[in-house]
Amino acid sequence: MKYHLVVLGCQMNHADAERMQAIMAKLGYAETEREEDADVIGIIACSVRQKAIDKVYSKIAKWNKWKNKKNLLTFVSGCVLPDDREKFLKLFDLVFDMKELASFPAMLSQYGVTTPISNTALIHDEALQEAARPATVAEKLNFSGLKPAENKVKAAPQTWEVEPIYNSAFEAFIPIQNGCNKFCTFCAVPYTRGREVSRPSADILEEAAKLIERGYKSITLLGQNVNSYGLDKKGEELSFADLLDHLGAMADASGKEVWIYYTSPHPRDMTRDVIEAMARRRSLAKQVHLPVQSGDDKVLIRMNRKHSMERYREVVGWIRDLLPTATLFTDVIVGFTGETDEQFENTRAAVREFKYNMAYIAMYSPRPGAASFAWQDDVDHAVKKERYAVLTEDLEKVAVVHTRELEGKTVRMLVRGKDRKEGYLSGHTEGKIIVRFASEDESLIGSFVDVQIESVRPFSAEGKLVNAAVTL
Ligand code: SF4
Repeated sequence: MKYHLVVLGCQMNHADAERMQAIMAKLGYAETEREEDADVIGIIACSVRQKAIDKVYSKIAKWNKWKNKKNLLTFVSGCVLPDDREKFLKLFDLVFDMKELASFPAMLSQYGVTTPISNTALIHDEALQEAARPATVAEKLNFSGLKPAENKVKAAPQTWEVEPIYNSAFEAFIPIQNGCNKFCTFCAVPYTRGREVSRPSADILEEAAKLIERGYKSITLLGQNVNSYGLDKKGEELSFADLLDHLGAMADASGKEVWIYYTSPHPRDMTRDVIEAMARRRSLAKQVHLPVQSGDDKVLIRMNRKHSMERYREVVGWIRDLLPTATLFTDVIVGFTGETDEQFENTRAAVREFKYNMAYIAMYSPRPGAASFAWQDDVDHAVKKERYAVLTEDLEKVAVVHTRELEGKTVRMLVRGKDRKEGYLSGHTEGKIIVRFASEDESLIGSFVDVQIESVRPFSAEGKLVNAAVTL
């Protein structure tokens, strides 16, 4: 029997999907790329954009028609707003929160589905069903300063308690935190994913240790607000800085080469000791993605970002002081409701001041479920487009200064796959600058190589392979 999974949205949904795939494999289902061939079809939904929600509705309308001709079970999970959930209940066979993933075998059983492999064992699988807090693992790893776990009330199970099937053999994503307490007015995440919950530090270290041992080259810690990690469990789990420090120390001591990233941090929760840990540990990749969203304090207040430009500047100052080689990425929204020309000019000034290597610029569009959805979307689409183009040009000017510095130099890069340009492979540097080089040797995919840079663009570079045997 086969299943087909549609994954929409961010890396967190993709990390959740890897856990969903693991459960389906345990139940004996094989994955199929063709939805027509599947006996079970599911969607991991995203509510960030209306387009993604529309896609869910159009998919389920099609699948429900197929039910006249074949036996088919449909489910939806992921980021779903309460209103959509109500509607989905009438359209899908199963609607569940990702936190309930461990109970998926039981849901199928209650629904009367006979799975290829009996789900009885999985239903009673303690590891899946219980939010086991592995105090013994914590003790084994010899954490200091953490409270003993005996009196702890068990939290609700989380998706991360399911062991995933990683979709890549060399890069992996580790969810460390779920949910968000920030309530930015343009964002629906706090309503779809709920409040912040941190994963036990011991579990994270254990998952990372396995990945390092298996030779993974790139590991990314994921969270909606990744650096608020531990704030909900102060004194019980490691702080984000200490977690990074432990991970970095473990990876450095392994003798293997691995780049450890995290995304996305919030400027308000960023502390100097996080940057200090990055400076101390070789394996903590020297790249920071620090969303600014706007360069204007009044817009930041309307966005409810809970940080000022002064605060943001302070954090970038630590990065420049302690990590002089680090690249800096950001997210920006242009044309947020009420944004004036002058306020947009402040965002342009921020791009020039912080000299970003990359910025993911979005034209504001109201997101269902977010607070600003009720506000007038009063910046003309043409103005948003103009601001988008102007800011992109500003960004290119500052980003190319860094890529030009790479010209003639030999850089280490992780080869990630075939490039769009025929006969080329591509990947990225530690600082996530895209690099491509002429080669058809696909055995290099997933390894580190050295490339001498010959030409550059603002966000990418091209070079020639000088050393293909650098993987540790
Ligand atoms: S910090 Fe803001 S943008 Fe990020 S997930 Fe939370 S509410 Fe959304």
